[in-house]
Formats: sequence, C-alpha cells, structure tokens
Amino acid sequence: MQARRFGAELLLARPLAAVSADGPGYVAELSDGTLIRGRAMLFASGVEWRRPDVPGIDDLLGAGVYYGAGPSEALSCTGSRVVVVGGGNSAGQAVVRFSRYARQVTLLVRGRDLGASMSQYLIDHLSTIPNVDVRVRTEVVGLQADDRLRAVIVRSGDSTGTAPLPSDALFICIGGTPLADGAAGIGLVTNSAGYLLTGGDFASGPGGNWPLRREPLPLETNRPGVFAAGDVRCGSVKRCSAAIGEGSMAVALVHRRLSELGGD
Ligand SMILES: Cc1cc2nc3c(=O)[nH]c(=O)nc-3n(C[C@H](O)[C@H](O)[C@H](O)COP(=O)(O)OP(=O)(O)OC[C@H]3O[C@@H](n4cnc5c(N)ncnc54)[C@H](O)[C@@H]3O)c2cc1C
Repeated sequence: MQARRFGAELLLARPLAAVSADGPGYVAELSDGTLIRGRAMLFASGVEWRRPDVPGIDDLLGAGVYYGAGPSEALSCTGSRVVVVGGGNSAGQAVVRFSRYARQVTLLVRGRDLGASMSQYLIDHLSTIPNVDVRVRTEVVGLQADDRLRAVIVRSGDSTGTAPLPSDALFICIGGTPLADGAAGIGLVTNSAGYLLTGGDFASGPGGNWPLRREPLPLETNRPGVFAAGDVRCGSVKRCSAAIGEGSMAVALVHRRLSELGGD
C-alpha cells in the first residue's frame, strides 16, 4: 500500500525474463513480453534455498529449525545443544560463532571430509574448539519434536540404523541459488556462486571495469544505476531485517543516480 501511495507500479506474477542496456538506462523484459524502461534498476530477487527432504521440517520453522545462521542467532543459543548442517564456509563460520555461546555444537556433513568445501583455516580452527563435534558422512533423516525441536535423527556412513541427537536448534546451511537470471544480459559481475557483487567488490574480477569517474555507490553493481539488495547481493546478511534495510538504502542511492543523470 505504501509503495502504491508513492506511485510505484506493482507488476505481479510476471517474472523478469531479460535485461538489456538502453542508453544510460536499462530495459527489463517480462515473461509476457512487456518492456519496462528505467534509468535505474534494483535487483532484489533473493535466493532459491536448498531444502533437505526431512519429514515435518517445515512445521518446525522458527521452533528450533532455521535456514541460514546469521551472527545475531549465536547469543540466542546460549547454553543450548546446536546442530548445524552443511559443509561450506558459511556453516563452518556459524559453528565457530555458536561455539562461543552454546553448550555443544555438532556439525553434520554429508561428504567424506570437509576439505572439498571448507577452507583449511576453518577446518583447523574447528578441530581446536572443545565443544564442537564434526561428523562427516552423516545426514539428517528425521526430527523429534513436541511444540518445538527436541532431537535430530541422524544416519551415519553406510549404516542403515539411525540415532537421535538431542538438539535445541537445527541450523541448515546448505546454500542455494541466487536468482539473478536477467543480470547476464548486461554483464553484471557475480562471485563464483552467482551472487551479485556491489560497491566496488567487482573491481578485481573479470568484467569489473567501472566506466565512471566517481566510485561505485555502496549497493551499486558494475553497471552504473543497477543496484542489488538483500539475499541476492554477495556479502549481505541473509535475513529479513537486513534485506529490508538494504532495500530502503537502495532508494536513496537510486535518487543519487537519477540526480546525476538529470532530467525528470
Ligand atoms: C525457510 C526459510 C526460513 C527463513 N526464516 C527466516 C527467519 O526466521 N528470519 C529471518 O530474518 N530470515 C529468514 N529467512 C531468510 C529470509 O527469508 C531472507 O533473508 C529474506 O526473505 C531476503 O529478502 P529478499 O527481499 O532479498 O529476497 P526474497 O524474500 O527471496 O524476495 C525475492 C522476491 O523476488 C522474486 N523474484 C525472483 N526472481 C524473479 C524474477 N525473475 N522475476 C520476478 N520476481 C522474481 C521472488 O519470487 C521473491 O518474491 C528464511 C528463509 C527461508 C528459505
């Protein structure tokens, strides 16, 4: 309602199909062929998160089961038994943070070892933390709960048997796919996982040539006037409050770009 009150046109249920350059601005093509021209553009298209196929997991969202693990979550785990699923650096960093507050942190990894997906410095660090237990070749196959999570049921190695792991919180850090399909049409620079690079972070990468004399604005991609906010942006905190904050910040940055271009 607020967006409408300020005159924004909301185009629902028509996915963005492609983006191309249009003078100093851009043109977005929707799936039904509609073309929308703009002198600035904001990608706030989020991430398609991977979800483990565990019965009942969606019923426990917010009641012991969480996707991602932002820095703010660590304090709320004080004295708890925490399970983190995932083998990447984000999972490893979350385990380090949780270990400062939680009673016990168990990292569950499906693969044979962490080396394929996690930086060695993190692997080394995890091995020195007394309340951290890393279990490889282990996956979550079920959950025990009443009104909230009580235990994670795990299966390890080639065994067909399962065992409960008493847990107060389960954090799922198995990644996802950033939804920035239209970005390719205007050569937006991403990191290796496909997240949009902003604020000059693209400078050292291929295609990261910045064409203007001024520095890129904080949420600006390598194309002047194209911004990214929220989950799709590389380095953002994957949380609602962060996405909302970045979205509102982007409004001010779009205004700066529009005043730079002049005109109405
Ligand atoms: C299961 C789950 C639970 C979570 N729980 C919490 C929580 O408790 N607390 C918390 O703070 N965060 C939570 N998060 C994270 C939170 O949802 C995200 O950080 C937040 O929604 C990011 O906002 P965003 O605007 O960047 O992206 P999104 O909310 O993902 O919005 C992106 C929008 O863009 C649309 N879109 C994408 N591509 C296109 C296209 N080509 N054309 C048109 N539209 C497109 C999508 O359909 C979507 O509507 C959770 C995430 C998941 C998956």
